[in-house]
Amino acid sequence: MKYVDEFREPEKASKLFAQIETLAAEVSGKLGRPVQLMEFCGGHTHAIFRFGIEQMLSKNIELIHGPGCPVCVLPRSRVDDCVALAERDDVIFTTFGDAMRVPGSKKSLLQAKADGAQVKMVYSPLDALALAKQNPDKEVIFFALGFETTMPSTALTLLQAESDGVKNFSLFCNHITTVPILQSLLDAPQFSIDGFVAPGHVSMVVGEEPFDYIANRYQKPLVITGFEPLDILQSIIMLLLQLKEGRAQMQNQYARVVLKQGNHPGLSAMAKVFELRDKFEWRGLGSIDQSGVKIRDEYARYDAERKFPVASIKVEDPINCQCGEVLKGMIKPWQCKVFGTLCTPEQPLGALMVSSEGACAAYYRFGNVEELLVQKENYLAKGK
Ligand code: SF4
Repeated sequence: MKYVDEFREPEKASKLFAQIETLAAEVSGKLGRPVQLMEFCGGHTHAIFRFGIEQMLSKNIELIHGPGCPVCVLPRSRVDDCVALAERDDVIFTTFGDAMRVPGSKKSLLQAKADGAQVKMVYSPLDALALAKQNPDKEVIFFALGFETTMPSTALTLLQAESDGVKNFSLFCNHITTVPILQSLLDAPQFSIDGFVAPGHVSMVVGEEPFDYIANRYQKPLVITGFEPLDILQSIIMLLLQLKEGRAQMQNQYARVVLKQGNHPGLSAMAKVFELRDKFEWRGLGSIDQSGVKIRDEYARYDAERKFPVASIKVEDPINCQCGEVLKGMIKPWQCKVFGTLCTPEQPLGALMVSSEGACAAYYRFGNVEELLVQKENYLAKGK
C-alpha cells in the first residue's frame, strides 16, 4: 500500500533501532542519565505501543507520554456541563464516541444516555448539523473538542450552518491549543525533557512556525513526526543527532504531509470563528492562559454556552487519580496507585484510561498487565 507499507518495513526498522542504540548510548553517557523524549500527541503514544516501539528501545532512552490527547485533558467540570446540556428535554447532544465514557463527577455521557438523555454518537460535526436539519423541534448541540487538528472542521460546519440558515444548531466549544500547553510544561520547575516528538496532525493545520518558536525560545529540539513506525524511529534519530551535536532546532520529518505554512483555508476558517479564551482548565494540569478557544461574538447564536448557560463548577479529580502526574510526564501510567486495580478500561477512574489515545489505556491494552501490576507494587512498596 503506497505510503503505509514502506513505513513499516521490518529490515529498515532494525537498522534504525541499531542507529538509535548507538546514538542513545552516546547522548545518555554525556547526560549521565537516560535521554528523555516526550511525544506530545496521543496518536503517537498509541502508535508507539501498537508497534511495540517502547519495548524495543534500550535503557538509554525513555519515552514520556505527554498531554496531547484532548479527551484525556478534559476536566470533570466540562463533562458535568455536557451531561447537564444532554439532560435538557429540548436538546439532542452529539459527540464523538471517545468522549462518551469520560467520567464526570457524577456520570459520563454514556450513563446519561442510559438514564434517558438524548446523546447521539457522530463521526463529524457535519453529521450533527444534518441531525439538526432533521429535528427542527430540538436544539442539536455538537460537543466540539480537540486541538488545532479538528478546529477547522468545527469552524467550517458552523459557517455551513450559517449559510444554510440553520437556527437549532450550536457548539459546546472545548477546543484547545497546542503551544500554550507546551509552554506551560516547559515553564514548570523540574521539567527535564530533552526533546519532543512533535504532533503531526496539529502541524498539518498550524505548519512549522509555532514549533520553530518553541525550539528557539526553550532551546529544545523538536521534530514534527508522522504516525508510522519508521516515522517515529527516524524522528528519534533526528532528535538524538541534535542532542549529540548540541543543536536545538525544529525539524520536519513529516514533510510529505506537513507544509511549512500549514493549511491556509483551515487557519482562516478557525480565525474567522474562534478567538482565544483568557484561560482554560485542563484535567490534572490546572488553568492555563490562552490554552483554549471560544466562539467569537459574531457567532454567539451558535454558542451552546451562551444559549444555555452552564454551571462550570470546578471539581477536583478523585483522590487516588494521578492523571495530572502522568500528563506532565512525572510518572509512568503503571506507577499510578490505581492503575489496573481501581482504574481499568471497563471501570475508568481517569480519562487516560478511556480514550484510545490515552497513555494508561495504551499500557493496559498493549502491555503485559500482570507484569505491570507487579512492577507497580514494587514501585509503591519503595514509598513512592
Ligand atoms: S490509571 Fe487511571 S487514575 Fe491513574 S493516571 Fe491512569 S487514568 Fe488516571
